[in-house]
Amino acid sequence: MTEYRLPDHLREAQHYINGTSTTGTGSSTIPVLDPATAQQVATVPAGTTADLDAAVGAAHAAFRSGVWSRISGRERSRVLIRVAQLFREHAEEIAQVESLDVGKPISLARAVDVNTAADTYEYAASLAQNLDGAVRRVPLPAHAYTQREPLGVVAAITPFNFPLILSTSKIAMALAAGNTVVHKPAEDTPLSALLTARLLSEAGVPDGVYNVVTGYGSDLGDHLTAHPQVAKVAFTGSTQTGAHVAAVAGQALRPVTAELGGNAANIIFADADMAQAVETSISAFVFNTGQFCMGGPRLLVERAVYDQFLEALAGAVPHVPFGDPKDPGTVIGPLANRRQLEKVTAAVEQAKASGARVVTGGEPAEINGGFFYRPTVLADVANSAEAVQQEVFGPVLTVQPFDTEQEAIELANSTDYGLASGIQTGNISRAHRVADALEAGIIWVNAWGMLDPAMPFGGVKASGWGRENGPEQMEAYTRTKSVIIALEPAPEQEASGRADSAS
Ligand code: NAD
Repeated sequence: MTEYRLPDHLREAQHYINGTSTTGTGSSTIPVLDPATAQQVATVPAGTTADLDAAVGAAHAAFRSGVWSRISGRERSRVLIRVAQLFREHAEEIAQVESLDVGKPISLARAVDVNTAADTYEYAASLAQNLDGAVRRVPLPAHAYTQREPLGVVAAITPFNFPLILSTSKIAMALAAGNTVVHKPAEDTPLSALLTARLLSEAGVPDGVYNVVTGYGSDLGDHLTAHPQVAKVAFTGSTQTGAHVAAVAGQALRPVTAELGGNAANIIFADADMAQAVETSISAFVFNTGQFCMGGPRLLVERAVYDQFLEALAGAVPHVPFGDPKDPGTVIGPLANRRQLEKVTAAVEQAKASGARVVTGGEPAEINGGFFYRPTVLADVANSAEAVQQEVFGPVLTVQPFDTEQEAIELANSTDYGLASGIQTGNISRAHRVADALEAGIIWVNAWGMLDPAMPFGGVKASGWGRENGPEQMEAYTRTKSVIIALEPAPEQEASGRADSAS
């Protein structure tokens, strides 16, 4: 395996403002670590509010100039398709950067992250061409129609776990609609945003339309969210930060979409195909090393097959390839940062203390000084345990038995979250019934994690507001204007009107 070396422009990275890389006005930097070794591989500037002002100012000026917002949707679509092509041409470099930045297994970055980003630009490009309004037949002497318009500057704030995909889902749709963007990526994983800036520029996105300011959310978040020249906030991150962002945005009367935490239940009925259900359950909790907001960390298993299922998990989980994310065979890598390793360790210890039985794993792993936690299955976990009620965000599966369909639904719905849920069953009627009763934004039946840019996802309850992907997302990046044009009555109507009033 040859070691991937970051290009110079990412090793000492800079903000990207108005088409130019710049160190900005601050003097401090943030170290970017390789989670597999905890070694520093790059630095990015710790941005200041002055840097944000420059970026928002550039984005606002670009929006006002019409250089992007007022060209036709078809022209924007052509550029976005070119962006997708560039993502595919640079796929290996993007996958390597994402893998190094997040500690993501390289095979996952290659197969999922880069392709999803390219697909998302292509899908958004198709919507850019269809920003239609509607003619309304109203009982007025008027021609009345609606049109969709971009909002202005979109502030995109993104988390560490899928930096590229979750940024892309905002950037692609915002740009398709004709908005401009200021992006504040997660402090831990900022590199793919800076690569994106280069590729967008190369594809023909004009200067000022996409800007990146790196830095700490605690320093920059409020200033960006409440900035008077920002028209919309698109946030993905934890429920706690999302609630804060929504409050600040609310004060500033700024629309906000909030894609927040998740803690999905995967329900295994005894009539499911057992081999497939075991495989699905494992991939649902180890995908992206468990740092997947729509992962399936809570397994609910019908009691008739509970012991059999635990035995199958105990046999299979230790064989899932775990270790160096640069090895193409690796499925589970390190956690993305030390904070996450500490959080997962604490949650498992709390579960053990509250009576959970460790089926496999249950501890960190010493591998090259990286942030590794062994894939872990915990059985007989109390429903009140933090590992069940809170988002752990690591390769940890809690397993609980249930006796009836109703009990499974109640357990699945018993947390504050509601992002995703899964049902493994051979009974299609049950699948419909249970899908209808689950409180979640997306439900998978006999599957887990299937997503497409055309299918909306988003949360209910503490998992957030709004939807990303699909035409539903475009609604949130545009506004409707009604145009009502008075029509003169036809001459004969006018004449008959005069005759009527004379008689
Ligand atoms: P986080 O909330 O700590 O940070 C997210 C972003 O918010 C970062 O860019 C951070 O710098 C910024 N931020 C921090 N303080 C801020 C403030 N006061 N104002 C504005 N921005 C601020 O989340 P994280 O730890 O990076 O990401 C993990 C979380 O994200 C998990 O809870 C996960 O479930 C969630 N997530 C949700 C989805 C979804 O689609 N619903 C997708 C991925 C991740």
